[in-house]
Order: sequence, then structure tokens, then C-alpha cells
Amino acid sequence: MDALVSDAGQYGVPDVDALLLALNLYGLCTPLGARVRLQLSLITSPEVRTVVVAAGRSDPPFTLSDDGWLYAAGVPIGRAVRTDADDAVSGYLRCWKHGTWWAATINPAGRSRCTGCAFCPTSLEPPADPVLTLERELHALLDGLELQLPPGGTLRSLHEVAVSTACYRTENAALEAMVMLRKVLRSRRINARIVLLSSVLRSREAFRFLAEHVAPFGLFLTAECVSRRDFLLKNTKADLLPEAMPALLAEARGAGLDTSFTYIAGLDTTVQLEKFMTVMLPQVTLFPSVQIFQPHKRIMDRLLSPEAECLGYYYNARRVVENIMTDLGSPLTPELWRCYRSLWATEYAGHALTGPTR
Ligand code: SF4
Repeated sequence: MDALVSDAGQYGVPDVDALLLALNLYGLCTPLGARVRLQLSLITSPEVRTVVVAAGRSDPPFTLSDDGWLYAAGVPIGRAVRTDADDAVSGYLRCWKHGTWWAATINPAGRSRCTGCAFCPTSLEPPADPVLTLERELHALLDGLELQLPPGGTLRSLHEVAVSTACYRTENAALEAMVMLRKVLRSRRINARIVLLSSVLRSREAFRFLAEHVAPFGLFLTAECVSRRDFLLKNTKADLLPEAMPALLAEARGAGLDTSFTYIAGLDTTVQLEKFMTVMLPQVTLFPSVQIFQPHKRIMDRLLSPEAECLGYYYNARRVVENIMTDLGSPLTPELWRCYRSLWATEYAGHALTGPTR
């Protein structure tokens, strides 16, 4: 197991972060499905955190025993207090804070049927997310989430509802969906910020419209990568050039929206990653979702940038982001509940990370 995290100290990466990073990259050997969702408590970091990893590989150093013990190279490192196949569901609650769920993620646009991004695992997930196009269907989804609340809980305590799909094909389709969602939330007196993961919202008019009719609203631009975009991404994402993204976020921010982006560490070279982060990070009001690339099958290993086959690439990527944010004087830090395959777990720029982990 020591070999797995041996270089982490040189980069100032704590062993817990290095272990979770390796688990995300290499996946898990278990017959539970192609992708599993674990509620994981590590021996050296007992707080329960959600981890969603590839499980169909035959050769990873991590294994899960029938009674839930997680082993790294044969050494027990933690326990999964809950294990589920990672279904593509229509919605779920997250950000457990002070006995309340602060956020929800919904997938109203049939994410499991969306295809076109070479790295995307959703087609491996059992589909349980019908396309919801009517107000009554959104109400039914929220009714379902309400049933999952603790006794006395209310969805009115939600601070954020994230729409986790890049499946809207046009800007107008995304705008119409956001207007309908805001209408449904208002009717239930839920004042949460709506966050949309998307690449199709691009115009100044759209941002102004959202500020006027949908806000509070945040755009997580699904940037994903800089290189090989025609090959790696579906066309509604690939046709947005990386060079245009900083100005797009600046425009959205200027309209009064929250801004951020998703990025997959492992697809670009370090030089490309650093150049991109340098121009994107000044434009965010929410910490970006920098995810570790997860090759679910042996053939997906070929999507990795050659540099990204070793863990040092990811340790360095952490440092690149931390240094740029520190130079910017940014107070933002990773929100652990927001990204299940984050580069960070317990520490960021030398400071302990606190706050909800799931
Ligand atoms: S847009 Fe790409 S990453 Fe997102 S759900 Fe569709 S195929 Fe997957």
C-alpha cells in the first residue's frame, strides 16, 4: 500500500487524499456492477464520504470484501458502510449539514440516454431517469425527494438545486427548462439557487434572461478538457472552443450569475491544464469541479494523457490549481459534497478542508 502513496509527501499531499485519488483513478475490484457508489469511512479519516468509482476492472489494487472492508494492495484501509450500484436516478439529496440536506441534484433530461463523450460512464449505469418535460413530472420528482427527508424536514431548506445534465441540445431548450424549474420551485416556496451544468448557454441575452427570470442561478460550464475535443466530447460541447470559455464565464458573471466549470483531470497535458486554469479560475464565483478521469474499461485507458498514467500528475494538478487560486487571493476552497471524484479530500493549499462530505 505504501507504494501507492509514496510520492504524495513530495507534493504536500496527505496520505488520505492520495489513497482516495488512487481509488478514483484505478477503481475497485468487486462483482457489484460496472460502477459503484460507496459511503466510505477510512481508518485514518473516519468521516463518512461518498465515493463513486469504476468497479468492472479486474486489475486494480483496491478490493472490497463481502463484509464491506476496503483493501489497498491487501491491506485494510477502511470500510464501506453502504454500497450501491450507481444507477442514473432522477434526483437525490446531498450536502448533509446540521441535520438537514442543503442541496439536491436532479437529472430531468434523461442523462443515462445521453451519449457522445468518450469518457462518460452514464451509459454503463442502469437507467432510472425518465425525461421530465412537464411541471407535474417535476413536482412528482420533488415529491419523491421529500419522502427521503428526515422527520420534520422540508425541501424549503434547500440552498441549491443542481441540474446535472449537459443533455439540452440548444440554448432555448435549456432556458425553457430552467424557467419551468424555477416556476415549480417557487410554487413550493423553495428559494434555492438553481445550478445548471451545461455548454449550450452561451449568449449575453441568455445570461441576462436567466438573471431576470430564473436567478439566483449558477452556470457550471462543462469545459471538461482542452485537447482532442472533437474526439472526446459530444458535438454540443466540442463546438465551444476553450479560448472562448473565459469570456463566456465573464459575461455570465457580469450578468450577475454565479459561475464555475467542470474539468476532467487526466485528459490534457500538465502544460495544457495549467494554461487553461490560469485563464479560467479568475472567472469563477464557485470552486470548479475538477474531477479525476475514471477509465471504466481497459480501452478507456487510451483516453488518458500519457503523463496522467501516474499519480504524480494529479498531485501536481492540485498544486497548479492551489497556486493560481492563492495568487488570485481567492477565498474559494473545494466543497467536498459537490464532487465525488475530486482531487481534494482533507486538505487544500495546506489547510484542512471542513464542511459536508456527502
Ligand atoms: S454530455 Fe457527455 S458527459 Fe454529459 S451525460 Fe452526455 S455523454 Fe455524458
